[in-house]
Amino acid sequence: MSAALIDGKAFAEGLRAKVGVRAAAFEAQAGRKAGLAVVLVGEDPASEVYVRNKGKQTVAAGMESFEHKLPADTGEAELLALVERLNADRSVDGILVQLPLPAHLDEQKVIATISPDKDVDGFHVINAGRLAVGLPGFVPCTPLGCLMLLKDRLGDLSGKNAVVIGRSNIVGKPMAQLLLAESCTVTIAHSRTRDLPEVVRRADIVVAAVGRPEMVKGDWIKPGAVVIDVGINRVPGAEEGKTRLVGDVDFASASAVAGAITPVPGGVGPMTIAVLLRNTLVAAHRNEGLELPADAI
Ligand code: NDP
Repeated sequence: MSAALIDGKAFAEGLRAKVGVRAAAFEAQAGRKAGLAVVLVGEDPASEVYVRNKGKQTVAAGMESFEHKLPADTGEAELLALVERLNADRSVDGILVQLPLPAHLDEQKVIATISPDKDVDGFHVINAGRLAVGLPGFVPCTPLGCLMLLKDRLGDLSGKNAVVIGRSNIVGKPMAQLLLAESCTVTIAHSRTRDLPEVVRRADIVVAAVGRPEMVKGDWIKPGAVVIDVGINRVPGAEEGKTRLVGDVDFASASAVAGAITPVPGGVGPMTIAVLLRNTLVAAHRNEGLELPADAI
């Protein structure tokens, strides 16, 4: 392996520590803690783990965590009424509805009900629009975490060729917008892209958010490129009955060519919750009309 390892776990720890310091200062100024409400509908085991981790890390950063666990058969009206109550609750700065929701609930309708000023996930169309036109708003946590790692590694991104593989609303599209705002020349690839290896070979920066285990191979990577692997895929492990996590990038071959690369696990994954806490603290300052210097967190 010749690539430098981008340690997202360590970066996320540092970010959470900075958020903790600012959260304490916020509490002293506002006379209350910043608060994050997380709504979980149903019993999806992966979602339960995420929600538990979010709760723990919120409290560890000195913020208030409000968890709302609702049964899988919760009706739309009941869920929307809860979101409205959280919108009106002044102790709640950020609202996150854990996705995916059970099939009978309309995710877009639920997201549209969250106040854009408490939408710390950045999924509301108002925040997507703000990102697109360059206004301050909330940016989805995973791509913002990827951008932080890239800027930490490369400094100025201006003029770099960036290829984002994947065009989802939660990762690919906002990632492309963020890179464009940093003056990268951005290509968004997807399942209909022709000759993807050739497209990826042009990239100084590759962000893979596909959901296909180890799809991006080392011989697609331009020597020295920075590779950010968003993928989290569970595949059979070496031992029978055991599984392991792999990314969308074939780490063994890509790390022989890339200049720097995120591992899976321990790369992008830990950034998501750290950025969520950051977004919540930003929301808290805005909600109280308090100043938070742009470079503080
Ligand atoms: P989606 O399934 O919503 O989007 C996947 C994208 O990949 C689509 O745009 C799709 O194209 C594209 N794609 C699929 N197959 C190919 C192919 N063969 N070649 C090129 N492009 C292809 O996934 P998400 O964006 O939600 O997530 C992507 C990955 O990131 C997943 O592994 C997920 O687990 C992980 N993830 C990790 C997070 C974290 O670290 N915290 C957070 C969120 C996601 P098309 O649009 O044409 O169908």
